[in-house]
Amino acid sequence: MDKRELIEKINKLKKEKNAIILAHCYQNIEIDYVADFVGDSLGLSQLAAKTNADKIIFAGVYFMAETAKILNPAKKVYLPNISGCDMADMINLEQIKKFKEKNPNIPTVCYINSTAAVKSECDICCTSSNAIEVVKSLNTNEVLFVPDRYLAGWVEKNLPNVKITAYQGYCPTHFKISAEDIINKKNENPNAIVLSHPECRDEVVEISDFVGSTTQMMKYCKESKNKEFIVATELGVVQRLQRDYPDKKIIPISKEIFCPSMKENTLEDILYTLENENNEIKVDENIAKKAINCIDRMLKI
Ligand code: SF4
Repeated sequence: MDKRELIEKINKLKKEKNAIILAHCYQNIEIDYVADFVGDSLGLSQLAAKTNADKIIFAGVYFMAETAKILNPAKKVYLPNISGCDMADMINLEQIKKFKEKNPNIPTVCYINSTAAVKSECDICCTSSNAIEVVKSLNTNEVLFVPDRYLAGWVEKNLPNVKITAYQGYCPTHFKISAEDIINKKNENPNAIVLSHPECRDEVVEISDFVGSTTQMMKYCKESKNKEFIVATELGVVQRLQRDYPDKKIIPISKEIFCPSMKENTLEDILYTLENENNEIKVDENIAKKAINCIDRMLKI
């Protein structure tokens, strides 16, 4: 089947099955042809909740599909490939319990990039867009932060009066970006603005002109009068910016910065899942109940 046929078949079948397709910005860009929504993980799950679809196909990784299920309990959620986020998988239920035992009576903040089981043990969730506001809202001088030590470092830098004890997780994809990469690109493109994700190492964030989530970086690029940007994040974001703003020069930090788990989904996999309804994601009821409190507390801010 050629790509056009594949796209037509998927779009027809999703209508027949009253399904929607959510695609994270790190997915293979061709998936946008069949996606109802493209964006950040939490935003996608929230958009899905506003629809009357019966089924959600999540082109993303495991924790994203779990979040979609928690926020859309009446809908069936499917993940075309069961692939996890390497950072989310650096901490499990036992490890979060131990981490809290070692540091008792301190509010625990978890990044949305965590499993439902980990969220169920935390007080409040955050995204890379709102992490600073979430920690600020707690009005405390100490928090535990899981799993991303670099996002935790970014928050601490912005809130110097709060002591953050971070779990030592990290994103292996963003970890590959070094300060040297930024300096080299900047030397080649002296007029470019450097945008980086707070999952990047401290040394990278330190020398960036703008630090923000995927959505914030895309918005910055859209609204900025500048014409050149060095983008220090996953390749999928770079490709979408290049597609959407052809009048701007979007410079990838490196073509090697891609998340292998995110790239597993193909149009063929999506069609297979629509046809066979395989890989349905379910979340234990007790875990879901506790995890939704953690997410809801963030949404109330
Ligand atoms: S890019 Fe990093 S944080 Fe995002 S899904 Fe991949 S491993 Fe996880």
